[in-house]
Amino acid sequence: MPQNLPAAVDVAIVGGGVAGLWILHRLKRRGMTAVLIERGPFGDGQTLYSQGILHRGPKYLLRPGGDGSFPDLLSRWNECLEGRGPDRGEPDLRAVRTLSPGPWLLSRSPLAADLANRFEAATELGLVRKADPAVPGTPVHARYRFQEPVLDMASLLAALAGPYAECCRVAADPSFDLDSGSEEEPVKVTVGGQVIKARWLVLAAGEGNEALLQRLGRRNPVMVKRPLKMVCIDGENLPPTWAHALDGEIAEGREGAHFTVTSHPQGSLPFFPPSPGAWWWYVGGDFSEANLPWSMEQIREFLQPILARNFPGVDLAGTRWHLMLVNRAEPLPSDGLRRLEPFVHVDGPVVTVWPLKLVLAPLVADRVVEVVEGGA
Ligand SMILES: Cc1cc2nc3c(=O)[nH]c(=O)nc-3n(C[C@H](O)[C@H](O)[C@H](O)COP(=O)(O)OP(=O)(O)OC[C@H]3O[C@@H](n4cnc5c(N)ncnc54)[C@H](O)[C@@H]3O)c2cc1C
Repeated sequence: MPQNLPAAVDVAIVGGGVAGLWILHRLKRRGMTAVLIERGPFGDGQTLYSQGILHRGPKYLLRPGGDGSFPDLLSRWNECLEGRGPDRGEPDLRAVRTLSPGPWLLSRSPLAADLANRFEAATELGLVRKADPAVPGTPVHARYRFQEPVLDMASLLAALAGPYAECCRVAADPSFDLDSGSEEEPVKVTVGGQVIKARWLVLAAGEGNEALLQRLGRRNPVMVKRPLKMVCIDGENLPPTWAHALDGEIAEGREGAHFTVTSHPQGSLPFFPPSPGAWWWYVGGDFSEANLPWSMEQIREFLQPILARNFPGVDLAGTRWHLMLVNRAEPLPSDGLRRLEPFVHVDGPVVTVWPLKLVLAPLVADRVVEVVEGGA
């Protein structure tokens, strides 16, 4: 990263996860000047720790009362993944590794009638495909396959950051002044002794937004952290798999009804310690969101038999299990109802964003471009 950034820019962005980097890209392609300040590795909050699924909605049918309504951005992502993004001012994501065309839906018993109906409707919309047990490679308990590619996060972050390395700077502790005396450039950011004036300050620091807002003396928007207990499993012969699984026996207990397994290649994610196996399993779901006071051993005792019956033939006996604590960062909804939609809050020259899902980052970028270009 460069030592010196411009002394004045249109936009200063704090945070280089998927949201900040996508915003940087869009602004630069619109001809604006922008810098991005990151405190460490890109995406080292949520993006790097995400399961990488380009959700389109059907997963949310699995939630009690969930209607699956969710913005479908797959064609927009596909344009970027296939190299047609730059024609539309979007990033070129051809270098991003697609790990799977989409997770399976596994269920050992037939889906309840209402859920089956909803998956039929999702099939008609092309969001999922019915699993055909006669097709080689179809898992035993597969009912559907989500048409939602799973991406490798390290390669996504590298592809987003690569073209704009000269606009990015690593700085552990940037400071801000919002009253620099100039109407044109009301923001003053000091990074590593260098002062940068800007018209806009975009806070895209995920969980870090809370402390940044406090430092700026802003009470709003209010952030909430949603702690997750994710499980990383490594073993020499773990086959790669991507699946959401419904397990009736979990549904009867208090722990919730579904879990998600994604597989990540050895060396792709910094938090997986070196392992002799080629693939890691990364497991989350209702058990990880329930804030249970369980140790790794208790989680393993609970989860291993469930994984074993959903993935018959996979030997988990010699695998090593690791607990990964990670927070989702989201705005506190004023009415208490959590919404899976991108959040952009504008207060004077300060724009605060949380995409809620990595797949929604392009929508956050749209809104920021609109604000910066339209001035509101
Ligand atoms: C376990 C898990 C699984 C998920 N799976 C999926 C999924 O499959 N599909 C999906 O669509 N979404 C998923 N999500 C949600 C998705 O990961 C997030 O919505 C998205 O990555 C948020 O991106 P972001 O850029 O806002 O934040 P982050 O990725 O958290 O990036 C924020 C950046 O800001 C930096 N930063 C923080 N404070 C400062 C500071 N003071 N100064 C400078 N830099 C700072 C951090 O280092 C980081 O790089 C998952 C989330 C989690 C936690």
